[in-house]
Amino acid sequence: MSFLCEPVAIAHTPFKEKFAIPRQPQLAPAAKGLIELCAPYDDPLALAGLEGASHIWLLFVFHRATAPKSGPRLRVRPPRLGGNELCGVFATRSSHRPNNIGQSVVALERIEGTRLWVSGVDLLDGTPIIDIKPYIPYADALAHASHHFATEPPSPVTVQWQTEARRQAQHHRQRLQQPLIELIEQCLAQDPKPAYQQPNSEREYGVQFWDVNVVWHYPKPNVITVLRVDYSPQNDVS
Ligand code: SAH
Repeated sequence: MSFLCEPVAIAHTPFKEKFAIPRQPQLAPAAKGLIELCAPYDDPLALAGLEGASHIWLLFVFHRATAPKSGPRLRVRPPRLGGNELCGVFATRSSHRPNNIGQSVVALERIEGTRLWVSGVDLLDGTPIIDIKPYIPYADALAHASHHFATEPPSPVTVQWQTEARRQAQHHRQRLQQPLIELIEQCLAQDPKPAYQQPNSEREYGVQFWDVNVVWHYPKPNVITVLRVDYSPQNDVS
């Protein structure tokens, strides 16, 4: 049996590359995105009544997940287990999975025609959305639910700024009209570097958010210093 799935919408987000995207939604409330409906669902009728929901489920396709090298991928290495331990694919929320289907709960800030403004996203820019559903607290928020290794959000690392980097970020924040400083702090606090990598103060890391390139290093373990925030026009704001 096979199914044909077509996008109902496309996500526009600050995240131009997979690196440094929070590993779950809600970890970076400053990650704001726009969900734009596609034909034949690009009609406000399809959203009528959704404005009464504070949060929505986005079902989407990990369209930039890497294909397995050979055969089906039955086990993956979740970052929460240090990135070295193998786990059954169905025991994880890994983006490397059968059918490449992802799910995220995001805050619905407002609806304008056929566009939904959301926050707390963990989706790459351009991600195809295959369904949108209201989040229903009595059914979806289970107070007694538990999980053995992902019980709490990951402990954040400290994010500090070089004076000039913060000044640059303030400038771009104003230009983009986006909470860029908060976005950088919240995303870097998740410690984007691979879990198995030992930080080395010499090594610089970089990522593109919106149309700026953010560069940082680790002066010591669990501390990040933002070094530069430069306009990087190769990927313009979507
Ligand atoms: N909340 C989702 C996603 C968890 S994996 C779920 O539980 O199903 C989250 C990671 O997926 C992010 O850190 C990012 O690196 C990756 N990702 C996000 N959008 C993607 C896309 N369109 N293609 C490939 N990987 C993506």
